[in-house]
Amino acid sequence: MTQLAEPAGSAATSLPTIGHWIGGRRVAGTSGRRGPVFNPATGAQEKWVDFASTDELDVAVAAARAAFPAWRATSISKRTEILFRIRNLVEQHRHEIAALLTAEHGKVPSDALGELARGLENIEFACGIPQLLKGGFTEQASTGVDVYQIRQPLGVVAGITPFNFPAMVPMWMFANAIACGNAFILKPSEKDPSASILIAELLHEAGVPDGVFNVVQGDKVAVDRILEHPDIAAVSFVGSTPIARYIYETGTRNDKRVQALGGAKNHMLVLPDADVDMAADAAVSAGYGSAGERCMAIATVVAVGDVHDRLVDAIKTRLPKVQVGPGSDPASEMGPLVTRQHRDKVASYLDSAAEQGATVVADGREHPLFKDSDGFFLGTSLIDDVTPEMDCYRDEIFGPVLTVMHVDTYDEALRLINDNPYGNGTAIFTRDGGAARQFQFDVNVGMVGVNVPIPVPVAYYSFGGWKASLFGDLHMYGPDGIQFYTRSKVVTSRWPDPAKSSINLGFPQTR
Ligand code: NAD
Repeated sequence: MTQLAEPAGSAATSLPTIGHWIGGRRVAGTSGRRGPVFNPATGAQEKWVDFASTDELDVAVAAARAAFPAWRATSISKRTEILFRIRNLVEQHRHEIAALLTAEHGKVPSDALGELARGLENIEFACGIPQLLKGGFTEQASTGVDVYQIRQPLGVVAGITPFNFPAMVPMWMFANAIACGNAFILKPSEKDPSASILIAELLHEAGVPDGVFNVVQGDKVAVDRILEHPDIAAVSFVGSTPIARYIYETGTRNDKRVQALGGAKNHMLVLPDADVDMAADAAVSAGYGSAGERCMAIATVVAVGDVHDRLVDAIKTRLPKVQVGPGSDPASEMGPLVTRQHRDKVASYLDSAAEQGATVVADGREHPLFKDSDGFFLGTSLIDDVTPEMDCYRDEIFGPVLTVMHVDTYDEALRLINDNPYGNGTAIFTRDGGAARQFQFDVNVGMVGVNVPIPVPVAYYSFGGWKASLFGDLHMYGPDGIQFYTRSKVVTSRWPDPAKSSINLGFPQTR
């Protein structure tokens, strides 16, 4: 995690600092710790972000705890009204939020607006909370006895989010969490923290009471305090697999409900009968969109049989047409990577792949912006002849590097995918409905696309991978999200009937 010492007397000392949002207002950090925020397209540090101390995290928890009883008691119709207002305000301000994403994450405006559109879906889903929170009622379960189930909020819940979707992933979490009546604490990524504060302001304007939504900026110190704080009931996490595992193990050890979504290595299986142009378009869109910094990006194309050569040629011819550039240029389709350190790590896989026997078909370091710009750019890269033991296959690269593997049969391809430790997303490209159906049945992956390369579920389903891509029982957002942020209470009730009252020390035998 980067944290620069402030260079005395340099321009960095006068840069703006992004602070926290606690109890319904902006709060400047007091810990004396902070980290740099870069514009990835220029490579320049443009801001600082405060890193909270444990005491600052505790202040946010206290604010959330104080706000919870009244919010929980607020009628569902009033909460719904506020959610509709949040939806409208986020929609109205989406260009402003998108501009912050471009400035700090680097994604191009069309991609940033797409993130907002998918985030908004989650707020729209949460607007249906009157329907979603309905319980069940059984009249006359026994003579004169009714049984019913209700769902109640957990209390104070926290969300810890990654750099690659600074607006959408928080919306995956907080929309359902507050709709259910919880108070929420967001710990955004320290790499692109500004969107979280603008979103907090919009929630405030929409009428979310002070303390119901809080933002605490920071690093491991804030995260660790979240994991141990006795007043935090549940933690939602999205990020890399090692941290997801740590969050799950530590949070559950401290008696919290935890859902922790991790990294990915998504395979796109292409059968010999596939439409090669469609598959190549999909591989390029899903491999290089957002510079490959999506957990649902296609990382590996698995070509079965003789489709391999045609497919690699079709992908290769498309690469020079991908416009790499800053978000300030409307022609740009793919922006820079998030930090220089990450860009250089991604580029290093091109060397290790060549050393380990793969064929580098396209090397993104040859792009002029890699050499001539201070921004964190890397052009599109394509590696063929990849085998399972190579680093470029074993690791999640999380950059604009698409790898291609060549197998002889469907069974071989399936084994490869099922043997991979990750199981976030996958896709099959074929014209054969039976083969697609068999793949859907066979594959050990949580989200599957049939001729759809990035099968991110719509907000009324839930999002989640299998294996090392998710620790916990419930997926994120949608119906699973409502379940995660509530607990069930079952009431068995009978009203006084003195005529039938008697003492009975046994378990009831008559019904
Ligand atoms: P990351 O794991 O480095 O960071 C995620 C969050 O954890 C951040 O808020 C960060 O501040 C915090 N964190 C980082 N190191 C920590 C530590 N040692 N202790 C405690 N907290 C720590 O992930 P990232 O680089 O921000 O995001 C990219 C990763 O997220 C990729 O692996 C990607 O696949 C994954 N991701 C997964 C999904 C999904 O739905 N499965 C979605 C988006 C991103």
